[in-house]
Amino acid sequence: MSEVGDQSRLALTAHPLQRVGAYALAHLGKSPSPESLLPEAFGPAVEKVTRDAVRAALVRDTKSDEGFWLKASMSFFPNSKMNHHSNAKRDDDTIRDAVRAWRRMPDAALWPPVACVLCGRQAVGCFGKVDVPLAESDLYRNNTPRGHSGMALCWPCLCSFYALPYGCRLTGGPSIALHSWDERFMARTLSRRVERNQQLIALGRPDQKGVGANEALALHALRLHEDRLTAGVDLLVFSNNNRGQTLEVQSLEQPLAEWLRRSSRPPRSRGFAALVRAHATADKAGIVGLARNAFRAPERIVGACSRYMTAYIDQGVIRADTSELAELCLSFVSEVTRMNQNEIDEIKTAGAQVAAWLKAENSAGQLRAFNATLKDQPRMRHWLMRRNIDALLGTANGIDGPLISESQFRLLFDPEVEQAWFHRQLLVVTVVQRLHELGFAPADRAEVAAAIADEENEHPEDLDYLKGEES
Ligand SMILES: [Zn+2]
Repeated sequence: MSEVGDQSRLALTAHPLQRVGAYALAHLGKSPSPESLLPEAFGPAVEKVTRDAVRAALVRDTKSDEGFWLKASMSFFPNSKMNHHSNAKRDDDTIRDAVRAWRRMPDAALWPPVACVLCGRQAVGCFGKVDVPLAESDLYRNNTPRGHSGMALCWPCLCSFYALPYGCRLTGGPSIALHSWDERFMARTLSRRVERNQQLIALGRPDQKGVGANEALALHALRLHEDRLTAGVDLLVFSNNNRGQTLEVQSLEQPLAEWLRRSSRPPRSRGFAALVRAHATADKAGIVGLARNAFRAPERIVGACSRYMTAYIDQGVIRADTSELAELCLSFVSEVTRMNQNEIDEIKTAGAQVAAWLKAENSAGQLRAFNATLKDQPRMRHWLMRRNIDALLGTANGIDGPLISESQFRLLFDPEVEQAWFHRQLLVVTVVQRLHELGFAPADRAEVAAAIADEENEHPEDLDYLKGEES
């Protein structure tokens, strides 16, 4: 193919933002992927992007009712002909010509004798911040050929950056893009995003639907994706604005992304609702808490579940959604943490024994005593040892053989076992899950609940206050 012909074929490169833009442009050209966008369709897709840029530029005022696309452009193409401050005083034709000239492929006579830094084809020019988000990050540092300012790009790679806004969640400030090396996920997620943005561009208005947190955007996209993910998902939050170029990248590894995707869809979706509830706090929606944990500290997901499942345990009450949530928790452990199945089974066995003992005792007070050991490792250790001796002497109700084996004990408490704290959380999940299965409803439930209520009332500040009321 001739070099000029090459300039109308999209390529997928290693640059995540170029890839997002290339998918957006492909969708505008009604093609399922960048590489299948035919040269005949490439021109019209680029023309659509240019037309939208001209239309936004003619609005002139970012604060006007239809100014959102223009405002968004400042975070992608600052100081460009599209949003130049002098546009306010210019007539329509001048602005239109200036934007079109900026978005025209440079004349072949002007092409630099260098290759596109992203795809290796003939570059058509070197481009800076006006055209490409130049994020200050080691990972994304752009290569600039000696003696040139900016980044050498071919025309299709440059046009991918022009189409980038269509592929992002636009806020008016920093933009949010989802990226993955899973091409099917990219094609579907980007096609939805482009459709939505085209509506917003037509109206010139921002998206009214709140997203809660950037991270939650990824969870929404995963939930909508029907196929198994073959790669992880990255969340890129960036701005090319004059006030500061930023790029923040957070990633979900493939096993976690796939687990979140599967968990949020049937048949696991009931457990997912409980998972979301388990992450809700007074000032934060559960989905936001879950999304943040997923990106920042996935190991906290099991902790949140175990806290939720034990929240009313002191009153002898086991939540109705325990079973689905525990199931989901255990799937997290085997699919995401890649904990050895043998070890998971060991902990489940220990959990079942503890639950059997508690069920035989049929006492909310005993359950409460066990629950109190969770925050205190030596106490839990002592509690288990004590009952294990009873079991070995044959004086423990409801269980045959030892309460806990030596290898199980090691998994929970051995300082050499790195994840021992995690195993203890898991033990709790399995105990509560088993109690739920056994239909645990202790006789002294009401009595213990009342005792707790009394204790809770004994807070010094409350007592002081109440004293004042009575006098
Ligand atoms: Zn290129």
